Amino acid sequence: MSRKYTTLLIDADNTLLNFDKTENEALKSVMAVYNLPATEENCRRYSAINDALWKRFEKGEIERDEIKVTRFREFFSYLGVKEDFDPLEVNSKYLSFLREGGHTIDGAEELCRSLTEKGYKIYIITNGIALTQEKRLKKSGLLPYISDVFISETIGFQKPKREYFDYVLKNITEKDKGRILVIGDSLSSDIKGAIDSELDYIWYNHRKEATPEWLNAVAVVEDVREIGNIL
Ligand SMILES: [Mg+2]
Repeated sequence: MSRKYTTLLIDADNTLLNFDKTENEALKSVMAVYNLPATEENCRRYSAINDALWKRFEKGEIERDEIKVTRFREFFSYLGVKEDFDPLEVNSKYLSFLREGGHTIDGAEELCRSLTEKGYKIYIITNGIALTQEKRLKKSGLLPYISDVFISETIGFQKPKREYFDYVLKNITEKDKGRILVIGDSLSSDIKGAIDSELDYIWYNHRKEATPEWLNAVAVVEDVREIGNIL
């Protein structure tokens, strides 16, 4: 079989980088600063609040800056914190811990290395804060395999926006859309963006969710290592 794709646009968080682990550690560190109990249940609650806000941001319902303020205001209010605190200050402490987290998904480094050896060009497509993502990617050890990194904050648009993908497509060397493959774990940002830009995609379904009817993926994998066998 001749190789169809030359270029891979791969999501960072929870596809190559272990965001859940990094987030959990950063959250526990910031809670320790405020003497709050970092139970698993509390951590799950924070994730739920944060995820919901990012989903609303992806839908264009709120501005990015609202996430920074609202997530810790809501979370601290859930924890019943009575003292005066500045949610923005909590957020910036949290981000400083988050930047230190370069944990990768099991098998991600080997995958990037083998794909690079096979001649694929790999680009990172990620929503997030530029400084945070840059530091984490640097720490991850994945950068030697990456041709370029496209961070939503820098571009001014986030996945799945058409403008985000237009920018990426304009700034990569491959111009034939049929030779570009998107790989990511989020149906609402990576996969929707790929579909809207008429790009093929692999869905990394690490949460083992039911495959939606409309999905027309090159492959659905539950472990990133499987991608190396497909490409
Ligand atoms: Mg992701």
